[in-house]
Amino acid sequence: MTLYDSLVIGGGPAGATAVLYLVRAGCEVAWVERLSPGGQMLLTEAIDNYPGFPDGIKGWELADRMAAQLTHYSPNRYNQAVLSIEVGTGRHAVTLENEQILAKTVIICSGASHRRLGLPHEDKLVGRGISYCALCDGNFFKDQDVAVVGGGNSALEESLYLAKLVRKLYLIHRRDAFRADKIYQDKVFSLTDTIQPVLNTVVTAINGEHTLESLSLRNVRTQEESELKIDGLFVFVGFQPQGQCLPAELALDEQGFIITDAEMRTNLPGIYAAGDIRSKLCRQVATAVGDGATAGHAASIYLEQLHAY
Ligand code: NAP
Repeated sequence: MTLYDSLVIGGGPAGATAVLYLVRAGCEVAWVERLSPGGQMLLTEAIDNYPGFPDGIKGWELADRMAAQLTHYSPNRYNQAVLSIEVGTGRHAVTLENEQILAKTVIICSGASHRRLGLPHEDKLVGRGISYCALCDGNFFKDQDVAVVGGGNSALEESLYLAKLVRKLYLIHRRDAFRADKIYQDKVFSLTDTIQPVLNTVVTAINGEHTLESLSLRNVRTQEESELKIDGLFVFVGFQPQGQCLPAELALDEQGFIITDAEMRTNLPGIYAAGDIRSKLCRQVATAVGDGATAGHAASIYLEQLHAY
């Protein structure tokens, strides 16, 4: 069985950058990604805060460019899910769906996925009116009425995309102010014909047996209850770590994100984490790339020290 210098889990910007730094340092790398490389970039219409692209860039195009850069180096690619990571001394065993791989270092860049509201009927109505991806599903609601829940960058950015398609968009947020960047707020507040902010309001129930029919809402200031009839619901209330395969010994924060130091080292020697799976303040493509570069470089230094003894 091949013993790789490093195994990188995840094909988003953190994983792609970690692979780039490792292969350029001469390391033998295995790169594991369940689907195609790109991660959440593939679900983002336009990325307008990644440096170097003054007019922004389509998410899929940035993903393609990152993947294309790696074809010069041919890392060993595995299109499978990681089932478990068994941490050893100087070598770690990573079990995939169809095989097991040994590696001296592991860089976990498995990212995060959209958090759900956690209400009854939510799971069964996904794809029947409820969605977590405007780019994927927005077109199904052309000229219809939808609601978006959330007040962060995701909710407002996705609302701006949906506003080009739908008839009416109710932007439901539990507080009186959005946490999204001002640039998104200004754009949202300018689209008064399409986007109607519904502030200080929570969704208390999702109604509909086979397809979404309406939402039950409660104003948290006045306690007034109301019903909102809509065709679609888009939920953007933050992210949760995709950490099903993580070893039990790995130190996590209270939300389940991996704790690292500034060099992306976890509490386990030879195990690194980068990107959205990491406990940190700012989850962006730019910060994922920085994490990936740091993790790849730090792992290559660790490998040099490992080989010196
Ligand atoms: P986020 O920043 O954590 O915002 C989540 C929003 O959902 C908050 O407004 C929060 O309300 C609300 N919320 C949380 N739980 C809720 C619940 N149970 N019911 C109702 N509302 C709930 O998440 P995000 O917008 O997905 O962004 C995640 C990270 O990605 C952030 O770092 C963000 O900056 C980054 N991001 C960046 C861009 C960009 O720069 N273009 C785009 C997308 C995402 P409160 O405000 O009251 O807490």
